Amino acid sequence: MFVQILGSAAGGGFPQWNCNCANCAGFRDGSLRAQARTQSSIALSDDGVNWVLCNASPDIRAQLQAFAPMQPGRALRDTGIGAIILMDSQIDHTTGLLSLREGCPHQVWCTDMVHEDLSTGFPLFNMLTHWNGGLSWNRIELDQSFTIAACPNLRFTPLPLRSAAPPYSPHRFDPHPGDNIGLIVEDLRTGGKLFYAPGLGKVDESLLEIMAGSDCLLVDGTMWDDDEMQRRGVGTRTGREMGHLAQNGPGGMLEVLEHLPKQRKVLIHINNTNPILDEDSSERAELVRRNVEVAYDGMSIEL
Ligand SMILES: [Zn+2]
Ligand SMILES: [Zn+2]
Repeated sequence: MFVQILGSAAGGGFPQWNCNCANCAGFRDGSLRAQARTQSSIALSDDGVNWVLCNASPDIRAQLQAFAPMQPGRALRDTGIGAIILMDSQIDHTTGLLSLREGCPHQVWCTDMVHEDLSTGFPLFNMLTHWNGGLSWNRIELDQSFTIAACPNLRFTPLPLRSAAPPYSPHRFDPHPGDNIGLIVEDLRTGGKLFYAPGLGKVDESLLEIMAGSDCLLVDGTMWDDDEMQRRGVGTRTGREMGHLAQNGPGGMLEVLEHLPKQRKVLIHINNTNPILDEDSSERAELVRRNVEVAYDGMSIEL
């Protein structure tokens, strides 16, 4: 299985267009050693030609341009995107669908909850019907694995994860299973197993067991500290409130990953305030010590 990191940042990207936090300002004035990053999206393939896009970020156009294999050019109008899986209905994971309108219809896989949000509060499914039929919905059942015709050797298993629905969701203050999922993706030929959860608020025993059975963990790297937004003076919400488990501190992601010595561990969906973006930071050095990698745009993983 080929795993291509198209975008490794959280919503807003890095640097964020209107942000002057230490990271964003330091990147702009050249005093910070760091790589720019686009918003969260990965692509998966079993043959390197046909791809399943996981999340469609607002940066999708630039992401496709940066990764030639997704534009195979077999016909006058063509794409390597065979299907799209949405992990939730957040803006930074779904707005890219608007930019893919020229290639409709698209096969879109998402849960009932995500489909509801995207048919009501943020009605992408309705709007896009005007473009050659728009988006064909394939329902993700929470208790069932599924396969996708475009990549027949990959098996996808959804994992409902606890998180709040977006502000425009009709059930914003009433969380449901399926508002946010993680995925286990297994290559049926190589046996390679990926655990992908860009929004991961809590890891309990059963989830830890699932993670232990995977070869590579591509997990929530949004924040270093739970109160990072306050610390950096750019917001008041905690990571926990946004459904993201911070890396640092008791019970944090680094402690969780400590229990998983055999897996390749990669943080993704990194917020622009996170000190791990600074390649010279002590936080980054701590990740190196712990054998935890930081995803970057253009990173390729083979499983
Ligand atoms: Zn996000
Ligand atoms: Zn910033």
